Amino acid sequence: MNKCIICRGTKFKTLYRGLLKCSRCGHVFANVKLGKKTLSKIYNTDYFCGKEYNNYLADKEIIQKNFKLRLKILHKFINPKYHKNLLEIGCAYGFFLEIAKNNFSKVLGIDICSDGTNYARKYLNLDVITGDFLKHNFGQQNFDIVCLWDTIEHLNNPALYLNKINQITKKNSLIAITTGDISSLLANIQKEKWRLIHPPTHLHYFSKKTLIKLLNTYGFEVIYCHYAGFYRSVNAIFQLQYFKRKKSIKSLFNKIGLNKLNFYLNLYDILYIIARKS
Ligand SMILES: [Zn+2]
Repeated sequence: MNKCIICRGTKFKTLYRGLLKCSRCGHVFANVKLGKKTLSKIYNTDYFCGKEYNNYLADKEIIQKNFKLRLKILHKFINPKYHKNLLEIGCAYGFFLEIAKNNFSKVLGIDICSDGTNYARKYLNLDVITGDFLKHNFGQQNFDIVCLWDTIEHLNNPALYLNKINQITKKNSLIAITTGDISSLLANIQKEKWRLIHPPTHLHYFSKKTLIKLLNTYGFEVIYCHYAGFYRSVNAIFQLQYFKRKKSIKSLFNKIGLNKLNFYLNLYDILYIIARKS
């Protein structure tokens, strides 16, 4: 039987597109369990080139521009005396670690997607692990900052991740998370058409309330909670379902070079939460 990962409730309402909503705490999740084979099928080259992302490598500049925004906020809570070793779970091609590495004594990434981790090692000279965070043995290694950028919604069971993060961090360590907010105004208006409703890659749909509760359960106290804005390239806009059908507009934009433009947007539906281990 399904149990809610937030409140352990067992009663659910059916929403749309195979999503369930916990009757007790309101947590929303996809009613699927993905095995190793399915996961590696989803998170291959196609995922970063055409499926979930239009072209992750080509958008490196804008992706890093967004990571710089996130890092700038994270820095407000960092004490260089304590916060030295950073771990990024779901590091993909290492674009965040590349900009973060000069700010910390050590940065390490882990991702199940070998295309990404191979790239990070080969071209960015980063220390990254190809594998499953839950299965990887970190030995005596401890981390002072753990980042999950747009990653927690992809996990089969985020509670197991929080539990392990708790084990590999000490008091005052920080955790930084970004993810969509299912209770945001936009998600409520758009319902199943909200761009972040994306099973089976997005499995868990948090709200401020449910994410804070999960963090509290595993010993983390929230010290920052806001909506994150982001830069978006015109190129990335064309990856949205609506524009996929508008090929003529896309080729016009490409022709006159407008596809390379980018702009800042805050739709107040992406949570950025930083929590400290108490
Ligand atoms: Zn619940």
